[in-house]
Amino acid sequence: MIQSKGYAAFNTTSPLSDFQFQRRNLGASDVLIEIQYCGVCHSDLHQVRNEWHGTIYPIVPGHEIVGKVAAVGSQVTQFKVGDLAGVGCFVDSCRTCPSCAAGLEQYCDKGSLGTYNNIPTGEKLPTYGGYSNNMVVDEKYTLKISDKLDLKRVAPLLCAGITTYSPLRHWKVGKGHKVAVLGLGGLGHMAVKFAVSFGAEVTMLSTSASKKVDAEKLGAHHFELTTNVADMNKLAGTFDFIVDTVSAAHDVNAFIQLLKLDGAMILLGAAPTPAQVAAFSLIGKRRKLSGSLIGGIAETQEMLDYCAQHNIMSDIELISMKDINEAYERMLKSDVKYRFVIDMDTL
Ligand code: NAP
Ligand code: ZN
Ligand code: ZN
Repeated sequence: MIQSKGYAAFNTTSPLSDFQFQRRNLGASDVLIEIQYCGVCHSDLHQVRNEWHGTIYPIVPGHEIVGKVAAVGSQVTQFKVGDLAGVGCFVDSCRTCPSCAAGLEQYCDKGSLGTYNNIPTGEKLPTYGGYSNNMVVDEKYTLKISDKLDLKRVAPLLCAGITTYSPLRHWKVGKGHKVAVLGLGGLGHMAVKFAVSFGAEVTMLSTSASKKVDAEKLGAHHFELTTNVADMNKLAGTFDFIVDTVSAAHDVNAFIQLLKLDGAMILLGAAPTPAQVAAFSLIGKRRKLSGSLIGGIAETQEMLDYCAQHNIMSDIELISMKDINEAYERMLKSDVKYRFVIDMDTL
C-alpha cells in the first residue's frame, strides 16, 4: 500500500485535521499523482457536514486536483513520470453502460465512483480525495494539464470549470443569447467567464452588492442585485438561460419568471433542501427547468484544452492546509474571491 497523509473531518461538526491513511498500490493502468494544489468546492463543505446525508467518516474531501505524475503502472500509455495531471469529481465508472459508452461517465447507470466519500465495489474503505499529498487513479480518469497555464489557477477547472462549461455547451449558448448567472462564487465566476467567451450577453445576479466591480472584471455585461425587487421585476421575461449556482435554499420561481418564452433554467447548485416550483412559473411561457452534473472525461479534457487555448483560469485565493476550516466559514458567508485553492506544500 502507498502511505498518504491528508486532512479529514471525523464527524459532522469536527473541524478538518491531520489524517494518515493508505492508497492502493499502483495497478497496471494506474498513475500516482503527487498533488500540488486542490480547489475547495462548496460540495466539499456540504459533504463534510453531511448535508446531503450518507457521508462516510473520516472524509478526506477535494475533487479539484492537480499535480505531477510520480509513477506509472506497467500498461499506462497516456502519462509519463513528470507530466502534469488532473483529477475531477470521479475516479471510475462501469465503462459499459450507454452513458459511459457515450463519454457521459458522470451519468453512469451504475453510478460513477466519487473521488471521495464513495466505497468502490467489493471494498470496505471509501475513496479519499485531494486534500492530501498523493493519489492513485486509473489513467482513463486522469486529465492532461497544459503547462501554459498557472497550475494553481487550473485546479478549480476540474469541478467549477467543467460543471459550468458542460451545460453551456449542451444548450449551445453563444452569440445572440442573453444569459443570467445566479450566485457569484466558484461556479458562478467560471460560468460568467465561459458564457462571455462563447459570445453571450451576460448578466450577473447576486445578493452581494460588493461583487459588482468584480463581476464586470470577470466580463459580465450587467450586474443586478437580486435583493432589489423592483429591478428584478424589470428583468421579467428577458433571459434565454439562467445558470443557477446558489448553494443554499432560495425561491427559484422569482428567477424562472425572468426567462423568455422557451427559456431554460439550469440548476447547478445543490442546496440540501428541495426547491418548490410553482407550475405557473413554467407553463405561462413554456419554460424549461433542467439540471446538469459536472461533465464526462472527454468533455473535461475539451474544456481544459479550451482554457489553455483561450487563457481561461479561475480567480483564486491560495490558502495553507491549516486554514481550511476558516475558509469553509468564509465560503458560508459568500466571502470567497472566487475559489479557495489549497497549496499542498503546506500539508
Ligand atoms: P460558492 O463558491 O459558495 O458560491 C455560491 C454562491 O451562491 C455564493 O457566493 C453566493 O453568491 C450565492 N449564495 C449563497 N448562499 C445564498 C443564499 N442563501 N441565497 C442566495 N444566494 C446565495 O459555491 P460553489 O462551489 O460555487 O457551489 C455552488 C453550488 O453548486 C453548491 O451547492 C455545490 O454543491 C454545487 N455544485 C454542483 C455541481 C454540479 O455538478 N451540479 C458541481 C459542483 C458544485 P452571491 O454572493 O453572488 O449572491
Ligand atoms: Zn465540486
Ligand atoms: Zn456506466
